[in-house]
Amino acid sequence: MALFDKITDIFNSTSKELGKKAKDVISTVKLENEITGQESKIRESFLKIGEQYFEAFKDDPDSPYAKIIAEVAEAKAKIADLRNQINDLKGLVKCPVCGEAVSADQAFCPKCGAKLPEKAVEEKVEEAVEEVKEAVEEVKEAAEDAAEEIKE
Ligand SMILES: [Zn+2]
Repeated sequence: MALFDKITDIFNSTSKELGKKAKDVISTVKLENEITGQESKIRESFLKIGEQYFEAFKDDPDSPYAKIIAEVAEAKAKIADLRNQINDLKGLVKCPVCGEAVSADQAFCPKCGAKLPEKAVEEKVEEAVEEVKEAVEEVKEAAEDAAEEIKE
């Protein structure tokens, strides 16, 4: 019986140790996850500090971060330009009040109700004039080609 008791003891202590090790591993993973969570909070806060600093000092040439501010401003200008290109492709104009991208044939912004500039209409007229000019040019060329053919 003593041998059986010994075996039982070894088995019990081994399984207890294994159980503790498994718990330790689980605890470690939980703690590491918590660290990751805290680290991402820090990153978010740093991001907020950066955004607030940019807004507060974007026009200050004496800022110690003037170079970085200029990089951000340049990237923002590029983004605005790229958005304008997308709007052009989609036939959209930007609302001068709220910045919403609005269909060029709208008279008022559907988001804020502001009257949209007449420029959109002027541009459409210019486009139509261009199209007519091109059509006239094509007809002219076709007529000239036909005239050449008749001569030959
Ligand atoms: Zn608007």
